[in-house]
Amino acid sequence: MDQKGKCIIFSAPSGAGKTTIVHALLDENIGLEFSVSACSRNPRPNEIDGKDYYFLGLDLFKKKIEEAAFIEWEEVYTNNFYGTLESEIERIWSNGKTVIFDVDVIGGLNLKGIFGEAALAIFVQPPSYEELEKRLRYRSTETEEKILQRMGKAKNELSFAEDFDIILVNDELETAIASAKESVLNFLKA
Ligand code: ADP
Ligand code: 5GP
Repeated sequence: MDQKGKCIIFSAPSGAGKTTIVHALLDENIGLEFSVSACSRNPRPNEIDGKDYYFLGLDLFKKKIEEAAFIEWEEVYTNNFYGTLESEIERIWSNGKTVIFDVDVIGGLNLKGIFGEAALAIFVQPPSYEELEKRLRYRSTETEEKILQRMGKAKNELSFAEDFDIILVNDELETAIASAKESVLNFLKA
């Protein structure tokens, strides 16, 4: 793939607040466009196909893996696949925009490995493990089994924070958004 633009990567354990922060940055109109990932799970009630994810289902997702359509993909949770389509990055760069990713921690580090200096990798850190669990529960989107699965994964994910370019602590939301915006603008003008 030709390197035609820059990208911003947001990663964190589930519930840390990365989707909230990414949406706030998109609303700022600073030339960012969201990289819509593909996934194999079903949409949540408020999610829209082609906007939040490309909801491919498991069979089509596996077909896309065989066709080498992804620049990265992962089985983030058992039987739940997520991946970034190469065509998505091409589409955004050809619009003259900067790509913004919301991916899991390993996916984020893989993307940083692919894009190198053209990418700013930001780790969203919850104030504490307990607060992470509280946010995940408050969001009310997962079953108890899924919450426990996500909290179990979070311990390992938190240990990768230092591998990112920036650690953004998401305690007070407005402060975190302002800090994220400043980091992104500095990176884009460099
Ligand atoms: P992620 O995308 O990392 O899984 P979300 O953005 O969905 O996380 O946030 C998880 C939940 O926590 C949501 O209900 C969101 O509204 C809430 N949340 C996000 N940031 C904060 C914050 N700074 N303080 C309190 N709650 C927050
Ligand atoms: P959710 O099911 O809560 O939407 O997302 C589950 C996890 O998958 C989140 O941590 C999210 O960031 C991650 N994710 C979403 N898209 C991708 C992707 O394209 N690649 C990878 N590796 N992870 C992704």
